[in-house]
Amino acid sequence: MKILFNAAITATLAATILGCSNNGSAQTSKETQQAATAETSQEAVQASSDYKTITLSDGASVTWIKDNAGDKLNPRDLFSDASDSLYNSLNLADGIPASVSTFLMKADGEYVLFDAGLGDFGGQMANHLKELNVNPDDIKLIYLTHLHVDHISGLVKKTETGFEKVFKNATVYVGQVEKDAWFNDIEKNDLQKAILGVYSDKLKLFAFGDILPHEVEAIDAIGHTPGHTVFRHKELLVIGDLMHGYALQINHPEINSNYDMDKAKSIESRKKILEYAKANKLTMAGMHLPTPGFAE
Ligand SMILES: [Zn+2]
Repeated sequence: MKILFNAAITATLAATILGCSNNGSAQTSKETQQAATAETSQEAVQASSDYKTITLSDGASVTWIKDNAGDKLNPRDLFSDASDSLYNSLNLADGIPASVSTFLMKADGEYVLFDAGLGDFGGQMANHLKELNVNPDDIKLIYLTHLHVDHISGLVKKTETGFEKVFKNATVYVGQVEKDAWFNDIEKNDLQKAILGVYSDKLKLFAFGDILPHEVEAIDAIGHTPGHTVFRHKELLVIGDLMHGYALQINHPEINSNYDMDKAKSIESRKKILEYAKANKLTMAGMHLPTPGFAE
């Protein structure tokens, strides 16, 4: 399995080329014009390194949208299970490349969003949707892998009195097991209750094995949270928080991140889902995979 690096490499190459074109100090009008062009192109490069679209065999498109600003490295101490010798063998002294991401699928002309990112906590998705000419009002379905705040905060905007919907026309799907756990068993749940409360008129609960609209299957991947779900549509597998350190965990699924709530079940799910993805030749889309969000 390997990360799909093409877009990142293209972007890096383009940036290098553009960087070279800015050398020299003479200010002829031609050079000024070149500089202006370079600036515009650099903006485009910047934007394109924050999203990438792939097309599935049924014609549906899936766009990775990077929600965090800048680069994200998950630190070594997030992976207490990993020995120093294993960690050091990765040669990633500064941390493991990661992201906070969401995925937007367009199937049969309708937009489906997988998770909603950081929202008011530094999320960039709203800007990227604008750049992609997608109106939040046109997103009709939102499928949630789980209810951690870096996956649901983007559903709402703060107002003076509380929260309001970002996606006015969307129905939000959450796993029954996940919702029950957060509402009944997990103590720190104020944000989960408040955010889902905003969508209470458009909230739907699913069970593992259910086939949701646009042929999206909800698959049991519990462990990271009590109802953690991965979603399959054709050859796409949205893996949520199955991995927080791809470079480490892809070959060592027995290593958890410290965010994983049930260690034993997280390992079991990670092994099971990675095997399943491999056996069915699926493209994984992960909320914390490094740029560009997809791995196969
Ligand atoms: Zn997460």
